[in-house]
Amino acid sequence: MSEKLDCDVVIVGGGPCGLTLAIELGRRGISAILLEERTTPSQFPSANATQARTMEHYRRLGFAEKVRAEGLPPDYPTDIAYFTRYTKHELARFSLPSARAARELIKTMSGSWSAAELPHRVSQIFVESVLRDEAAACPTISLRAGWRMTAIRDTSKGVEVDAERNDGGERKTLRASYAIGADGGSSPTRKALGINYAGESGAVRDFMGGRMFAIHFRSTQLYDVLPHPRAWMYWTINHDRRCFMAAVNGRDQFTIHTQLSPGQQARDISDAQAKAMFHEAMATPLDIEIIGRSAWNAGYTLVAEKFQRGRILLGGDAVHLFTPTGGLGYNTAVEDAVNLGWKLAAVIKGWGGAALLDSYEIERQAIAKRNTTYARGFADSVGLFAVPPEFEEDSPAGEAARKVAGDHFNHHARFEFNIPGITFGGRYDGSPVIVSDGTAPPPDSPNAYVPTACPGGRAPHLWLADGRSLYDALGFEFTLLALGKSADTAPFRAAADTLKIPLSIVPLEEPGARDLYGAELVLIRPDQIVAWRGNAATDAAGVLRRAAGHP
Ligand SMILES: Cc1cc2nc3c(=O)[nH]c(=O)nc-3n(C[C@H](O)[C@H](O)[C@H](O)COP(=O)(O)OP(=O)(O)OC[C@H]3O[C@@H](n4cnc5c(N)ncnc54)[C@H](O)[C@@H]3O)c2cc1C
Repeated sequence: MSEKLDCDVVIVGGGPCGLTLAIELGRRGISAILLEERTTPSQFPSANATQARTMEHYRRLGFAEKVRAEGLPPDYPTDIAYFTRYTKHELARFSLPSARAARELIKTMSGSWSAAELPHRVSQIFVESVLRDEAAACPTISLRAGWRMTAIRDTSKGVEVDAERNDGGERKTLRASYAIGADGGSSPTRKALGINYAGESGAVRDFMGGRMFAIHFRSTQLYDVLPHPRAWMYWTINHDRRCFMAAVNGRDQFTIHTQLSPGQQARDISDAQAKAMFHEAMATPLDIEIIGRSAWNAGYTLVAEKFQRGRILLGGDAVHLFTPTGGLGYNTAVEDAVNLGWKLAAVIKGWGGAALLDSYEIERQAIAKRNTTYARGFADSVGLFAVPPEFEEDSPAGEAARKVAGDHFNHHARFEFNIPGITFGGRYDGSPVIVSDGTAPPPDSPNAYVPTACPGGRAPHLWLADGRSLYDALGFEFTLLALGKSADTAPFRAAADTLKIPLSIVPLEEPGARDLYGAELVLIRPDQIVAWRGNAATDAAGVLRRAAGHP
């Protein structure tokens, strides 16, 4: 472009996707302006779970500990528990560790949970505040709160983004090399590009399939009234008020979500009626202070037909909408940003080729379809459970019905909330920037993850003898792991220097590492995905060219 640019990238939207992308770009010295129409951060707690893979990315970026310190107190258990009503029968429980225990526990785990981090159950409001601080700390990132994108154009040589202040007081046209729409489910950027979602938008279920109503409330007495051990997430199963409720700060804040009747509108519900809904779930009166209310749709399994048009790309809810069972929407949004961040930076810096950006849609659209499908399965499992008439009766028939429900929800809780296969097992097989070695990956399964260095998947994790995670030893961009004394890394060094591809070479003599990785040499991408593995560096230049998106 001959015209002077305002920045390299304009990001529209300052939710988890836009903020993570800003951090990925900022850490690489790429200049970006992030437009966020809200002047104050969202105060409504929507997402409640940061999955383990997202925590590993936060660790890579250096702020996993800040996130783990947020939300519930360090010793608060993160159980998921099911009740008829909150003060009545407990039906099922999946006990999970507190944040403090999770830190130590992960160092002892193996198999499906060979990982640097366990999940962290924390409200999105807390995570977003860490992400905002991290993005603001990057000197090349400019966060513009209260600025709305009003029009966006690809000029083929760059992009133009019209923006105006919320109060209409100021207008600007920003010029950049690329623009990213991370502007949520109603994405004005996606609409401007004429891209539609495909999939299912109106699944109907007894629960988690319809219009949902959410109340964010304060109660200093709730824990005193609940006769059961503390949990992070509380579900009710009964005929007239099915709910899920998440503990927000472990002291006095909670969010409760229930489904509206067909045709019922959230705006018609008075605060008194909202409190009555809560009382039905509790089976006892307890006054609460309503902090906020919100409505949302359960029943989406939607993925956009395209993630990119020319120099404008899309990520997060702008390209996939979930039913939030499984807690995958925000986590998938963050992984979009992780995938896109290094690629965009590489192309802007000149060492990334055209195929690198094209691979974003190829890799992430397949994951979006996979993850939304898993989430739908969880919604069916919880939402289609039929509650028999005698369910709450104080009778042998009632007891038997509750036992059946208990068995179902004990199984369901582990199905929905123990998902190492989903979080670690996402793969980019068939991507043009992955060099296959002809081996087949293990089958995809939500609840089991089999560590494998078969190119296209997450680099298998291991703890090093000095107590560090292997991931702490990797470079920030490409890393070549040298796993045997005889491995010759010189051709990779030479090729990387010639191609100007940033490459760290990390020798690894840890017992078991060679077997885990199945080769002497392994090329790991900046997003910790195995790009190639082999026993000889005979075609180092070819491998690097391919992984960096060059013909
Ligand atoms: C009840 C509920 C529970 C959930 N639980 C989970 C969970 O446990 N785990 C999970 O992973 N996900 C969960 N989710 C989903 C999660 O909240 C979203 O997937 C996530 O917020 C998506 O992030 P995003 O950055 O793509 O979009 P958003 O968070 O929607 O951010 C988009 C931003 O773009 C801004 N914007 C829009 N238009 C413009 C414009 N023209 N100009 C400037 N700015 C603009 C918006 O103001 C907004 O801040 C849940 C959702 C709900 C409703």
